[in-house]
Amino acid sequence: MAKSVTVKQPILRLEESRRQYARATRVLVGGVNSPVRSFMSVGGEPLIVERGEGPFIYDADGNEYVDFICGWGALILGHARREVLQAVQATLEKGTILGLTNELEIELAERIIEAFPSIELVRFVNSGTEAAMTAIRLARAYTGRRKILKFEGCYHGHLDYLLTKAGSGLATYSLPASDGVPEEITRDTITVPYNDADAVESVFKQAGPEIACVIVEPIAGNMGVVPPKQGFLEALREITERYGSLLIFDEVITGFRVARGGAQELYGVRPDLTCLGKIIGGGFPIGAVGGRAEIMKLLTPTGRVYQAGTFSGNPISMSAGIATIDLLTPQLYERLEHLSSTLERGVVEAAKNSNANILTNRVGSMFSLFFTDRRRVENYSDVQSSDRARFTQLFWEMVRRGVLLPPSPFETIFVSASHDEAVVKRAVEAFAEAFRVIGEAA
Ligand SMILES: *Cc1c(COP(=O)(O)O)cnc(C)c1O
Repeated sequence: MAKSVTVKQPILRLEESRRQYARATRVLVGGVNSPVRSFMSVGGEPLIVERGEGPFIYDADGNEYVDFICGWGALILGHARREVLQAVQATLEKGTILGLTNELEIELAERIIEAFPSIELVRFVNSGTEAAMTAIRLARAYTGRRKILKFEGCYHGHLDYLLTKAGSGLATYSLPASDGVPEEITRDTITVPYNDADAVESVFKQAGPEIACVIVEPIAGNMGVVPPKQGFLEALREITERYGSLLIFDEVITGFRVARGGAQELYGVRPDLTCLGKIIGGGFPIGAVGGRAEIMKLLTPTGRVYQAGTFSGNPISMSAGIATIDLLTPQLYERLEHLSSTLERGVVEAAKNSNANILTNRVGSMFSLFFTDRRRVENYSDVQSSDRARFTQLFWEMVRRGVLLPPSPFETIFVSASHDEAVVKRAVEAFAEAFRVIGEAA
């Protein structure tokens, strides 16, 4: 990559990671159990990691990194937080899966309902994917309609009918973006650009009475961070209400992250149904769907919308979630905001000093940077037009300097409450050096 650089280039030893990755590829598809872990998006071999502690993660060779992946957003308190581990240990002593309802499920549901005024009843599931699947099944049952509207660049898990790329025209039915998804299955999925309320309006003008729901990440976090433009979420609320469709907020990332009550608290817009996941499991597998009682009651056993799960509401995830949520004080959100804004300011300044053209988007502790000349990044095509090669260079320069960013420009950089001023300073210094190296290599 950068040959004639003057900046010191730390050399990493990655022998053990390489050895284990070679072994992994013999038994795991692509050496991973979830695709972005493979580092294919940054053209290299993945790190194999061994343990995490607070804001740090350690690879198989013992290298320490400041971790900005943070379990893809699940770890708002950082790795191995003591209170969470203690809660889980105490629960473990009483058994692992009890097979019937346990008080911990009630306690976590009560906390969610308290934090989210739009939620009257909760159903726990095991992943964000299941939460989105259940929410859409409910919306279709409640409205008796088939079609669903989603946004380009929003991710709601790996459901067949949500794996759609953009259609070329508005109100055009999308093609499957994944092999193995028959065209009929995505025929009822309409995809429009994020932040484009006019496009939503015109789709509803054509097909409104057939649309069961609009599902949206109220702050997009799966194409990098793309916040909603002012009025966008309000417009979705108004249009869906006017046409008798349901509004689903997928707050799997944003729930308990941007505020205790998620993006719906931050922007003051109430959806009919909410998907949760990640943070509410305190580092263990989880998902949840919640919303108005009238809709939620359609689920079995009270209604006729079938949904079930052997491990749903398992005591381990419940107790880790409860312990996590109980530590999410107003002061903690202030601290996250302070650290994240310090990080953003530092990154912007470092880029300026090296003449790197970047744009940052941030909402609280969700942050991303795009190599672009644009003054705004508001949707998927804006994101796509950013310079991926530059990001790849940045990613590896940061790895060399002991800072782990998500290995894709389309994933969110997460700050946790275990990060502190010193760690952020260390990261900003690494960014400054990395931008300099990239600049000289250009
Ligand atoms: C991570 C994510 C999902 C899927 O959650 P899994 O637990 O990985 O199935 C769904 N929606 C959003 C917004 C996500 O970020």
